[in-house]
Amino acid sequence: MESIWRQTASMPDVPCLEGDTRTDILIIGGGIAGLLCAWALDRAGADYLLVEARELCAGVTGNTTAKITAQHGILYQKLLPSLGLEKTRLYFEANQRAVAEYRALCRELDCDFTEQTAYVFARSDPEKLKRERAVYRALGAEAALRKTSPLPFPVAGCLGLAGQGQFHPLKFLARIARGLNLRAHTKVRALAPGEARTDHGVVRANKIVLATHFPILNKHGLYPLKMYQHRSYVLALRGAASLEGMYVSQDDTGLSFRTYRDLLLLGGGGHRTGRPGGGWRELRALARRWYPEAQEVAHWAAQDCVTLDGGAYVGSYAPQTPDLFVATGFNKWGMTTALAGAHILQDLLQGRANIYAPAFDPGRPMAGGAAAANAAASAAHLLTPTVPRCPHLGCALRYNAQEDAWECPCHGSRFDRSGALLDGPATDDLRRPPPAR
Ligand SMILES: Cc1cc2nc3c(=O)[nH]c(=O)nc-3n(C[C@H](O)[C@H](O)[C@H](O)COP(=O)(O)OP(=O)(O)OC[C@H]3O[C@@H](n4cnc5c(N)ncnc54)[C@H](O)[C@@H]3O)c2cc1C
Repeated sequence: MESIWRQTASMPDVPCLEGDTRTDILIIGGGIAGLLCAWALDRAGADYLLVEARELCAGVTGNTTAKITAQHGILYQKLLPSLGLEKTRLYFEANQRAVAEYRALCRELDCDFTEQTAYVFARSDPEKLKRERAVYRALGAEAALRKTSPLPFPVAGCLGLAGQGQFHPLKFLARIARGLNLRAHTKVRALAPGEARTDHGVVRANKIVLATHFPILNKHGLYPLKMYQHRSYVLALRGAASLEGMYVSQDDTGLSFRTYRDLLLLGGGGHRTGRPGGGWRELRALARRWYPEAQEVAHWAAQDCVTLDGGAYVGSYAPQTPDLFVATGFNKWGMTTALAGAHILQDLLQGRANIYAPAFDPGRPMAGGAAAANAAASAAHLLTPTVPRCPHLGCALRYNAQEDAWECPCHGSRFDRSGALLDGPATDDLRRPPPAR
């Protein structure tokens, strides 16, 4: 089923590439990361072109929950040990600036923006919330810790960051996309330095930005080692009690709550892609318990890239590829990080320094233990002798019965029952259809 965003807004029709062309900057991927980068470059008068494999926002962006906040769960206490205080402050400030910029932009664009307080809640021990509040103070920000919430279960604590927001992401991006230099239905099949090959022609560019969600180039940058994908499920409920504020759980359940008009969007049921998880079944059981009067009007699912320290990767792709750039690893907080990232990329692509870039540097050291654990988790699936295998790096695919899809437990590529590609980083369909289930 389509998300409520896709049911209630359409992205502009964009032509596909027709023949070889040349540009200064090529952006690959027409989700929020690519589109905001194109928009920032367009306003700066740059020569750029964006190509998208499907329609605009056909990927994760069309299936988000679109909370606009610099409060990314309890991120800042996780970032502090790896980034240090100054870069953690820059990371927070870049996201807060993005919230302010959305607020200003949304005044001009009809996209159902409402200002909200963002809350992260704990159901049992509030200790981590207290720690996060202390980190906010060290960053120069204030967040209020409360013992109660309007959620339909008791909480041990609720940490609120005021002045955040929520919107309709596709109404916003449809307006942003107007007048930009875009080509849709133009999938990049192969990348070489200064060149991207598509079925409709070759694009030659001085600089290339990979905004393909999970990067499609394995050779440099170690992205398959330092990221994985995590899937989440959403129900849109009509008739649930209305809610002030936007909520996300502090723990790994990923439970999330926001309203859109008369609907409550309940998120959760998540799991690392290709691993078992609760999915819509778990969410429906929760909805029956918490909102017995409510009616489900839509359900959808999507996945996001998760990094090992919780921070996004925006900037130079790898030391060996000086003209290649990336925006990825948004850890389910891509609304603000994509906008912050667009400004970082705009500066770097135009040869200027950006004060926030060091906090998002894709080349920052990986936490050793986490990288080893992620590598070991992938190695186990590489050695599993079952078929079908993922064309990305050869891991054994797992069947997700709730979504009738085959998923890679290593890096998160997905395929439908006929073997057609649903989500990257794989770039091709399976050579043979998977066994019938
Ligand atoms: C269920 C869920 C809820 C979320 N809720 C929130 C939230 O409340 N707030 C928040 O801030 N964030 C949220 N997020 C995260 C946010 O939605 C994502 O981080 C963001 O949408 C990712 O955008 P993107 O542009 O990187 O990826 P995408 O939107 O997937 O865009 C990538 C594009 O690249 C294209 N592409 C891929 N390969 C190629 C190729 N070879 N050639 C050409 N094009 C290609 C794809 O077709 C796709 O359109 C949520 C995520 C999920 C899964």
